[in-house]
Amino acid sequence: DDAGVPGRVRVAVRLRPRNAEESVADADFADCVELQPELKRLKLRKNNWDTDTYAFDEVLTEFASQKRVYEVVAKPVVESVLDGYNGTVMAYGQTGTGKTYTLGRLGEEDAADRGIMVRAMEDILADVSPESDSVSVSYLQLYMESLQDLLDPTNDNISIVEDPKSGDVSLPGATIVEIRDQQSFLELLQLGEAHRYAANTKLNTESSRSHAILMVHVKRSVKGREPAHSSENGNSNNMAKSLRPPLVRKGKLVVVDLAGSERIDKSGSEGHTLEEAKSINLSLSALGKCINALAENSAHVPVRDSKLTRLLRDSFGGTARTSLVITIGPSPRHRGETASTIMFGQRAM
Ligand code: ADP
Ligand code: MG
Repeated sequence: DDAGVPGRVRVAVRLRPRNAEESVADADFADCVELQPELKRLKLRKNNWDTDTYAFDEVLTEFASQKRVYEVVAKPVVESVLDGYNGTVMAYGQTGTGKTYTLGRLGEEDAADRGIMVRAMEDILADVSPESDSVSVSYLQLYMESLQDLLDPTNDNISIVEDPKSGDVSLPGATIVEIRDQQSFLELLQLGEAHRYAANTKLNTESSRSHAILMVHVKRSVKGREPAHSSENGNSNNMAKSLRPPLVRKGKLVVVDLAGSERIDKSGSEGHTLEEAKSINLSLSALGKCINALAENSAHVPVRDSKLTRLLRDSFGGTARTSLVITIGPSPRHRGETASTIMFGQRAM
């Protein structure tokens, strides 16, 4: 098992259960997919007789708990962030298939519902030391190539800056909030959601048309052992060591709730503009190209093609761990969209 091997995208597929409407309307029809979780395979129905079979790193059925989904999809990435690496967890799929359920659920009524963002922060806070380490968070929305601060709605034009030497990505001007306890993190997620709703109402768009991006920075001071990777080198004699400031190990976790992957009607007849359709298709296809390049071990990963991929540049490929969960619904009516989501996931492997 190559769980969490850097440079390769791990891909899990998650099926959402039938909702009430589908249970009634599709009662006489079989699901468009059949999962074989032990074999890590999924069968997609082509017609009444034939299926195509696809393999994934993990196949999560409609009975998979949120806890299991976290452990399979995100935990290895969170652990490597705690060790000082960068990592990305993202959800891709048609609107209504469970991306936000998987990543963003707060689980306030029922703790079993907690999604990946909340569970990741719990694991991070449990591991860091409050005296010497720091955990801080930014929360952003990327809509039509414009990056907005969900923690400060007046800031809707954040630029993405790359350090030419280290390749590190920074977002000057984006709010960064230090997190000391889980409750303040939950409040911050709620505030971000409220700002997202307001921004989208103002822009007259839906949240499914934008990407929501949570960034968690973990800084730890390293005592007694060398950091996993550090720009600091130089002389190791004890005298120099004692004069040196404590080494800091930094990791960054990026969680991306991607815009809905459904083909957007370019005629604008469904209330979105041609520009909107183009821009969403652009960022998702740019992401797809980068994921393909990683899967093929290509020397060139075309990160410059969209803001989404520029933003992920230092948390994607290289020493970073990347995990993708593709979310699908069971309905035979959406077989076409489900097939294209499955193909997106397959191209990453
Ligand atoms: P998306 O973010 O992909 O548009 P949502 O996460 O909003 O989709 O999910 C759509 C609906 O389906 C929501 O009502 C959500 O609660 C429900 N849902 C999604 N996934 C599951 C699941 N695994 N189990 C139960 N309900 C789910
Ligand atoms: Mg959503």
